Amino acid sequence: MVVVAHPDDAEFGSSGTVAKWTRAGAAITYVVCTDGSKGSNHPTYDPATLIHTRQEEQREAAAVLGVRTVEFLGYPDGGLRADEQLVRDLVRLMRRDRPGIVIAQSPARTLRLTLYISHPDHLAAGEATIRAVYPHARTRPSFPDLVAEGLDPHDVSEVWVVGTAEPDTWIDISDTIDVKIAALRAHRSQLGDWDAETFVRRWTRANGRGRGYAHAEVFKTIRL
Ligand SMILES: [Zn+2]
Repeated sequence: MVVVAHPDDAEFGSSGTVAKWTRAGAAITYVVCTDGSKGSNHPTYDPATLIHTRQEEQREAAAVLGVRTVEFLGYPDGGLRADEQLVRDLVRLMRRDRPGIVIAQSPARTLRLTLYISHPDHLAAGEATIRAVYPHARTRPSFPDLVAEGLDPHDVSEVWVVGTAEPDTWIDISDTIDVKIAALRAHRSQLGDWDAETFVRRWTRANGRGRGYAHAEVFKTIRL
């Protein structure tokens, strides 16, 4: 399961790794917490149209990667909070799909990386995801109404955090870098004329340097 704040976050952060996993037969669920409605600075844009467009782009990107399920939680873009409602929504999906690994955005602001990484919605999504993993998804007395719905507790085994300044896990995505870029290209409303491919190739090459990988994605992994 991959939990992110915005449509396109998952493609930037972890889609090369996800493509490897789907090729190996993994069933992946994407969870997008916000509606992406603030993803435009155009003076006359229509938020409702943008929400629809971004959902379609996210579904297209997921299809490129072999991700079978995409859930949109629909919280307003720009105001995400790691509150009980969001945690509960995430616990519900974790208990339903029972992932072994959850990929989360970092809940910790880092001043060592670009500010884009520490968008407030990313911090909130990361915090809520980790709270959902531990303690609530695995704790029966948490959200007893979910148990009453048949959603029994579930122990997530590992959390993989993206956007961290302290990576400890490097995934070789040399075989899936082209798929990553193809998935990113689905986010046409966000990329515009920007040359995402050059940026992503340079960035993933820098990640892989010193590890012997042509391209890599990096994570901080936590085992429970
Ligand atoms: Zn984002």
